[in-house]
Amino acid sequence: MQQIFHTPASPEEYWQLGKEFAFPDPPRFCPFCRTSLPLRKHGFYRRNALSGRGTRRILIRRYRCCFCGRTVSFLPSFCLPYFQITPPIPNYSFPV
Ligand SMILES: [Zn+2]
Repeated sequence: MQQIFHTPASPEEYWQLGKEFAFPDPPRFCPFCRTSLPLRKHGFYRRNALSGRGTRRILIRRYRCCFCGRTVSFLPSFCLPYFQITPPIPNYSFPV
């Protein structure tokens, strides 16, 4: 299963931070079996992100349910599930 989390980071910024990116906490309930046991970090996988600055191999955080064993991946909001291309990002800055 893939879930999208919001990030103001551009594909370039996300790629540059790699594993140092502040990935979101896992959901409090497994989206499959609804158990309240915590989801555990289950490594990363790589996928392409095509943007105006070229193709980057970005890391996608994955969590695994320790009850049912299924995995949930967290895609940054600039990714489209099942597509490599990233939609254009508006040209404005976010408050810090
Ligand atoms: Zn589960």
